[in-house]
Amino acid sequence: MRIAPIADPTIDLRSDTITRPTAGMRTAMAAAEVGDDVYGEDPAINALQERVAELLGHEAGLFTPTGSMGNLLGVWALVKPGQELLCDARAHIVRAELGAHAVLNGITTRTWTSPDGVGDTATIASLIAPETAYLVQTAAVALENTHNFGGGTIQPIEHLREVSALCRDAGVGLHLDGARLWNAHVATGVPLADYGRLFNTVNVCFSKGLGAPIGSMLVSDADTIARARVQRKRMGGGLRQAGILAAAASYALDNQLTRLAEDHANAAAFADALAAEMPGAASAPQTNIVVIDTGEKTSADVVAAAAQLGVKVSAVGPRMVRAVTCLEINAEQARIAGQLIGRILAG
Ligand SMILES: *Cc1c(COP(=O)(O)O)cnc(C)c1O
Repeated sequence: MRIAPIADPTIDLRSDTITRPTAGMRTAMAAAEVGDDVYGEDPAINALQERVAELLGHEAGLFTPTGSMGNLLGVWALVKPGQELLCDARAHIVRAELGAHAVLNGITTRTWTSPDGVGDTATIASLIAPETAYLVQTAAVALENTHNFGGGTIQPIEHLREVSALCRDAGVGLHLDGARLWNAHVATGVPLADYGRLFNTVNVCFSKGLGAPIGSMLVSDADTIARARVQRKRMGGGLRQAGILAAAASYALDNQLTRLAEDHANAAAFADALAAEMPGAASAPQTNIVVIDTGEKTSADVVAAAAQLGVKVSAVGPRMVRAVTCLEINAEQARIAGQLIGRILAG
């Protein structure tokens, strides 16, 4: 069967990082009151750091240009060179940060595997290695919520409480890669601080579904953030009039947080339309990410066929493709794209 291409424009489901600042966000950015943030004198940055720290139940926050830098600084605060970090084998920290934690933090990682990015508490407990003269010492555990390569999956709050207690009792740190913690919060209704308080350090991104062009934040206790501020500058991450970016993030929190529910509904509509053409190829999404099993076709072939017909998705494994909804995608586009990918898989 010949599948008709979609009408212009292209439907881009590669990532929720493709969002462009909305008109209201640009207005807020233009009006930002700014200063030199290396001197701690940018009012918009200071206000955002206080706001997000409080939202997440922590004492202090530090704005970073990227989520990778937020994760790098959070792990740096907890794990010394030569020590190890434990995380899921598909965590962004070990798959998508290009070895930064080894190269720049000087640490090693050991991983557990899980079907959807939600590790089993007993497995995590079994990996923790105490300090000896002959084994690498475990200094921290990192979790990811929602779990990107797990399929936008939510870490249940009961599970997070278990791992938090485990780490506290074992004397190891706990970091959260919360690039999409906003999505978990909107999907579950669990307050952000209930998540945040379970961790020593938390990184959140404003540049994913929230829709800001740039920016992430590390939150922790005041001492840790003061140390991380020095390390951020050492790494070249000291920004000057960054309030323009803080204004975008504040605008996103005020106006584009609760609308993440629309992205979740659109991801579900995409998965339903896909299932109507090719049952079983995608599981029902928990948030804004749909992971598609390409079956007998390679992901490269599916990505290329979809692109030719006007839909962009990304390959995340040899036979696994990812589609992500965000504020650039409406319900109708999600449905059309799901149907088209389903037809490609069935064809
Ligand atoms: C996007 C993302 C990050 C940070 O990525 P940057 O591109 O460096 O901002 C961290 N963790 C997860 C799970 C992500 O999806």
